[in-house]
Amino acid sequence: TSGKPLDFIRQIIAEDLASGKHRTIVTRFPPEPNGFLHIGHAKSICLNFGVAVENNATCHLRFDDTNPDKESTEYVESIQRDVRWLGFDWGEHRYYASDYFDQLHDFAVQLIGMGKAYVCHLSSDEIRAYRGTLTEPGKESPYRNRSVAENLDLFARMRAGEFDEGTCVLRAKIDMASPNIVMRDPVLYRILKSHHHRTGDKWCIYPMYDFTHCLSDMLEGITHSLCTLEFENNRALYDWVLDTLQTPNHPRQIEFARLNINYTVTSKRKLLQLVTEGHVSGWDDPRMLTISGLRRRGYTPASIRNFCATIGIGKRESWIDMGVLENAVRDDLNEHARRVFGVLDPLKIVLTNYPEGETEEVVAQNHPQNPAMGERRVPFSREIYIERSDFMEDAPKKFFRLSVGREVRLRYAYLITCQEVIKNERGEVVELRCTYDPDSRGGTAPDGRKVKGTIHWVSAPHALRAEVRLYDRLFTAEYPDADKERNFKEFLNPHSLTLLSECMLEPGLAQATIEDRFQFERQGYFCLDNGASRPDRPVFNRIVTLRDSWAK
Ligand code: ATP
Ligand code: MG
Ligand code: MG
Repeated sequence: TSGKPLDFIRQIIAEDLASGKHRTIVTRFPPEPNGFLHIGHAKSICLNFGVAVENNATCHLRFDDTNPDKESTEYVESIQRDVRWLGFDWGEHRYYASDYFDQLHDFAVQLIGMGKAYVCHLSSDEIRAYRGTLTEPGKESPYRNRSVAENLDLFARMRAGEFDEGTCVLRAKIDMASPNIVMRDPVLYRILKSHHHRTGDKWCIYPMYDFTHCLSDMLEGITHSLCTLEFENNRALYDWVLDTLQTPNHPRQIEFARLNINYTVTSKRKLLQLVTEGHVSGWDDPRMLTISGLRRRGYTPASIRNFCATIGIGKRESWIDMGVLENAVRDDLNEHARRVFGVLDPLKIVLTNYPEGETEEVVAQNHPQNPAMGERRVPFSREIYIERSDFMEDAPKKFFRLSVGREVRLRYAYLITCQEVIKNERGEVVELRCTYDPDSRGGTAPDGRKVKGTIHWVSAPHALRAEVRLYDRLFTAEYPDADKERNFKEFLNPHSLTLLSECMLEPGLAQATIEDRFQFERQGYFCLDNGASRPDRPVFNRIVTLRDSWAK
């Protein structure tokens, strides 16, 4: 639909449908429920669910839950929430790898029966040492040539709980001299006397990822199993398991480049550390590039989908600039967000010639480029707040905002001229006395005099007091986890969060809901924080800054 050429995966799928290899396709998104989803997962979700939608096909949501120690129902729920929020639907097709534990066990027994798997008593260190290197073939385990009967008995006893963790594993019998190290008798099952969040204490042996994944794909009738490049070498094992077991169908694994974004980390393990060690307020901290963090920050689902479409799907590892993600949400909000006034660092102005006690309403556009978004009425009175940075005492000539004796336009309201600066005993500016031109209502003077600067403002007695949170990147280093000598947490940005506790917003924002997103004119895009806001104390997040502002 987009005129863009198809990426290599969509091309393969189109060919498989055109050639009749498949009448319909089935994809899957297979998260492990050991953490919250992040922006990297969004790439995989948009790909797997995206190609399904485009081909009128189904995409399964499958929880890859074979590491009971790290997994939980809380994570299962957060993953479902995040996938739905991104705009995708698995319908009836929610599965758990743990649903297949019985079948996987039977397949393992079958491999043993074929002489293709054996119980090995080497320790994990020994297994590693025996495995060899890229330049050196591996060494065969002394347990490799046990009889089928002995292996069947030992595996049954493993399952029955007779052995301690770490004492033995089930390994595939493939080729210790294979140039692909993954094929040097990989482990298929290990002993873990752990409670599983779904199967409870039924099992004390758990299948490994490489054994589980291909068979789960096969059992579900997946046609195209899309994964990231680090699994390229595992494809041989994926195919070996299915070929050896002569399964009725054989999904095709295709690898694509994972998403890497600079100035952040996208690894659940590292994100979990940030959460558990309190470097952030939680998985949904608005500085985190988790889906829930982005949601709380104010990103729209469409902006994340557009981002994923922009970066595309390729075969080569690359780094995406954080700015690309920010642009995606900026483009969306620029089009859809209502414009409002919010003063983040307020400086009070008294309009000395404005009648005391009077209030009027000025008409403001909700989106100057899109009249269909309508107008609103904003109260105006004798006392208003402006942004402190819109006033300068010793202003250079090119400063087109307020300074004593200079005139500026209050957007949609009046032209005002600064007459006097009030300071406190420390010499800080605390208030400005200005006069307004009653004939300039709407912002133009009848005599046609030119006033260059236009600033935003909020009527003081009507202002909605709020806390505003400004965010900067969470890391100061472009590649925080690239330095092997230093821990990524050493690069945390101590200034990633700025709290502004006394902001003055136009009163209509009291009606803002969690779904609303606004442009505070000249300040950026903002939304209500879904975690910290209270009815009497709204908290707004800055989603992203503006590219440019309309007043210089
Ligand atoms: P992490 O490395 O963050 O722990 P993971 O790969 O272990 O991620 P899974 O829950 O196994 O997390 O991931 C589910 C799916 O999401 C996998 O198919 C995986 O390839 C994909 N995925 C994870 N991270 C990325 C990424 N950065 N870019 C693209 N796809 C990703
Ligand atoms: Mg994984
Ligand atoms: Mg991982």
